[in-house]
Amino acid sequence: MNFIDEALLEIKAGSGGSGCLSFRREKYIPRGGPDGGDGGRGGDVFLKANKNINTLVDFHHKKVIQAKNGRNGSGKNMKGQDGESIFLSVPQGTVVLDADTGDLIIDCNEEKDYLLAKGGDGGLGNARFKSSTNQAPRKITKGEDGESINIKLELRSLADVGLVGFPNAGKSTFLNTVSSAKPKIADYPFTTLRPHLGTIKYSDNSFVIADIPGIIEGASDGHGLGIKFLKHISRTGILLFFLEAFSEISVQDQFLKLKKELGDFSEKLLEKEFYIVVTKIDLIDEETRFETLNTFNAKEFANVFGISSVTGEGVQELLDDISRKIFI
Ligand code: GDP
Ligand code: MG
Repeated sequence: MNFIDEALLEIKAGSGGSGCLSFRREKYIPRGGPDGGDGGRGGDVFLKANKNINTLVDFHHKKVIQAKNGRNGSGKNMKGQDGESIFLSVPQGTVVLDADTGDLIIDCNEEKDYLLAKGGDGGLGNARFKSSTNQAPRKITKGEDGESINIKLELRSLADVGLVGFPNAGKSTFLNTVSSAKPKIADYPFTTLRPHLGTIKYSDNSFVIADIPGIIEGASDGHGLGIKFLKHISRTGILLFFLEAFSEISVQDQFLKLKKELGDFSEKLLEKEFYIVVTKIDLIDEETRFETLNTFNAKEFANVFGISSVTGEGVQELLDDISRKIFI
């Protein structure tokens, strides 16, 4: 799946149709009254948030979205037809930013329709302007312009759990073992260039884990690839810090560096519930395992787990614990 997580669009609601200037013409009635009808309303543009969609790929080739204009009014008091509204289906969790200012306009966090651009009202026909002093008004009004706006859609995944770790920490492999998602795996950094979502079935429930592409030092300053994806974890409820057991950098240092990257991006991320997950424990002996996990235990972190995606050790215990947090 091609994961497109951004789209720039020019949105135009329909304009209202003009009111009509018309007088009744009937045989034997020399001066009929005004009978110009009103213009129709311009169509609106809505976003339809849908939780079964998970990419913005549909917008990749669309640049301008234009709802229909209302038709002009006509004689015999005929109102012009309203312009059809447009409903754009987007993944639930999409946020809409003003493309020019970057301001947040809409947060599509519920499964419902959101009005993005309002169509213009139709103008008034001359029949509306008839009065006791003016039996033959020649006045009409034009339809209003529809709203238009340049927007940027951004998909921030609604994963329950986000995996945070340096490249090679074992994130993709873990997601692969526990879910139906199939992230690409290789022995070099930056394999995961797009966030992958995996659904974990847990008895009658399920939850979503997002594999965030490797964060490297300085990611929060815009270096490296990680920063582009940090926004995906901004809504995640629980973070799993994946720390490689068998690495030149100690697990404590990995943890501190990852925390610093996240904190530099947004302090809020550090307020989330987190787990310390020491990965690849099959590569270290019992004693080292004990020591490694204990350094964190000693600091009174509640959630410290050691796992191996290869042997499966510790994986179920970790999922059990996460599930308890999510479902209870
Ligand atoms: P990511 O960059 O964090 O997604 O890391 P990957 O999942 O791509 O794993 C990087 C490398 O570590 C791959 O060669 C994996 O086969 C290996 N690996 C991942 N998990 C384990 C594990 O539990 N034990 C061992 N021995 N190797 C692992
Ligand atoms: Mg990966």
